[in-house]
Amino acid sequence: MLKLVYPGTFDPITRGHEDITRRASELFGGVIVAVAENVNKKTCFTLEERVEMATEVFSNDPRIQVMGFKGLLSYFLREQNANIILRGLRAVSDFEYEFQLAGMNRNLAPDVETLFLSASDPFMFVSATIVREIFRLGGDVSPFVHPAVLAFLRTKNRVFYL
Ligand code: ADP
Repeated sequence: MLKLVYPGTFDPITRGHEDITRRASELFGGVIVAVAENVNKKTCFTLEERVEMATEVFSNDPRIQVMGFKGLLSYFLREQNANIILRGLRAVSDFEYEFQLAGMNRNLAPDVETLFLSASDPFMFVSATIVREIFRLGGDVSPFVHPAVLAFLRTKNRVFYL
């Protein structure tokens, strides 16, 4: 029995993240979207806000569960009795970091495998960083995020994204 966890910062969740999640859920019957606290990156949105946005995005799909987590991903997987880490690959540039991460996670939890799905064509160039940047500069990000995320972004002052 495969139980998938899709970890990420989701700052905010984009159509690219959404696409990876839904495709994996179709294939495996469910996914846990695990929103990381992330102590390395300074995030624009708090963990609670990032969880709230992702929860709204997947509110109509009971097979997709959204949870926040702190600390090591391998501990979180163990707590959830999950055995697969799901990640998305957009371009060759993602590969080196993802490969390193997968290797490290295999060391920390040898019974866990990392599974990759490649980005769908329309989302190949979408990243949370670029979405934040376009929004901050007054551009239209509606093609790249769910309407619930757009509504959330609009509640924030643009200065907030600096
Ligand atoms: P980002 O790289 O956008 O800041 P995260 O750190 O939250 O996002 O990434 C979580 C995972 O989702 C990573 O494996 C990342 O490569 C993947 N991912 C991010 N954006 C996309 C996309 N547009 N299509 C496919 N995978 C993606």
